[in-house]
Amino acid sequence: MSAAGFVLAINVFVAALFAAAFAVVAWRTRTVIGARWLSLAYGMGIINAVLEFALPAQADPRWMSLAVFTVPLLGFAACIAGLARHYGVAPPWRAIAGLLAVSVPANIAIESQSSSSFVHAAIYQAPYFFGHMLAAAVLLRSRRRLDALDITLLVFLLFSSLQYVAKPLLVAGLGAVSAQDYLQSAYGAYSQVLIAFLLITNGVLMLLVFVRDALAELTRRSQTDTLSGLLNRGGFDDLAEKMLASALRDGVPATMVVADLDHFKAINDNYGHAAGDRVIAAFGQVLSAIAEPRTIVGRLGGEEFAAFIPGSNPATARLYAEGVRSGFSGLSIAQLGPDRRVSASFGVAQLRAGDGLSDLLRRADAALYEAKKSGRDRVCIAEPDIPAPLTAPMAGERRQGSRQPQA
Ligand code: GH3
Ligand code: MG
Ligand code: MG
Repeated sequence: MSAAGFVLAINVFVAALFAAAFAVVAWRTRTVIGARWLSLAYGMGIINAVLEFALPAQADPRWMSLAVFTVPLLGFAACIAGLARHYGVAPPWRAIAGLLAVSVPANIAIESQSSSSFVHAAIYQAPYFFGHMLAAAVLLRSRRRLDALDITLLVFLLFSSLQYVAKPLLVAGLGAVSAQDYLQSAYGAYSQVLIAFLLITNGVLMLLVFVRDALAELTRRSQTDTLSGLLNRGGFDDLAEKMLASALRDGVPATMVVADLDHFKAINDNYGHAAGDRVIAAFGQVLSAIAEPRTIVGRLGGEEFAAFIPGSNPATARLYAEGVRSGFSGLSIAQLGPDRRVSASFGVAQLRAGDGLSDLLRRADAALYEAKKSGRDRVCIAEPDIPAPLTAPMAGERRQGSRQPQA
């Protein structure tokens, strides 16, 4: 087997690996929609290689060489569409169609005419050059914040486009080869090595981008409460612990507000569980609607909620809790009829030096207990309690133990 044929065989294997990898990502994580297009793109790469191997044996190679030119171009179009879908940009279908509409007839024209090897190769490679530019433009048009990985992919896409400027020069230096002689030529070997390098680099980078975003999406979903749309207990603990640690480190004040709906069992009993769910969702909406962006709001479980407010003191936290309380208790919820209102009780505690999340929640819970005991539908602030412990709490500590009984 020739050197070019050998590298082409490796490229088939590489394309198959990436086609499979993107198919797995697309299958396992439905939100990573662009992965389907990328799997298709690499699938086209496999077809292209099979055509390349079949080409030398053709008596009339014209159709096959047109296919060898067109299939990778279609594959690249799928790649651009996949990147566009992933980066939240409308796929540039018109530009892609224009590229195909110009380059396919141009390729047919140069096949039947004798032009200089440089011009021939330049016309042949031009659509790939513009295709890479289109892919890079997709990333640049994205509204998403590009991080180091996205920028590396962008740089490599631009770098890859240079390959298609270099190839006509290579042809000019090494001499022209017909499509059928390609696999036996030195040019074919150089060309396939370049393709292998960029196929692998761009493939790995795109796969990393897709896997990174799939993991972020899975994490987000696993930390979101589906009923209220707020953070669930795990998500709240994770984020609040981080914010709490940074507030203590920077000497910034912070408070915790906890809330529990009043007489909620009666809502379930009288109106049904589904109506109770609507009440929980409505409370979650009020809680997050009037929270400042830096506030972390979560549903701790059942009809119990918490908000961690960095940069606040008990007075400002009380204002927030009062806002939620009055907003919610005035709310008419369709499932309960026009006259029924539901209230909630609130406890507020301030962060102290040496606090862990569990300490702060415990004090806020104690204040909530007071609010329940003294009549509900009110906000209570924690009494100054035991002095701060001398030793820092252990990392990753979670609130444990049972909540104080509620009236
Ligand atoms: P209190 O004023 O003392 O808080 O009285 P309460 O009736 O609200 O008592 P408690 O807080 O103990 O009641 C919690 C109830 O919430 C019990 C449980 O059936 C109900 N609940 C827990 N999770 C859900 C949920 O996801 N949906 C609905 N509809 N009900 C839930
Ligand atoms: Mg409760
Ligand atoms: Mg309750």
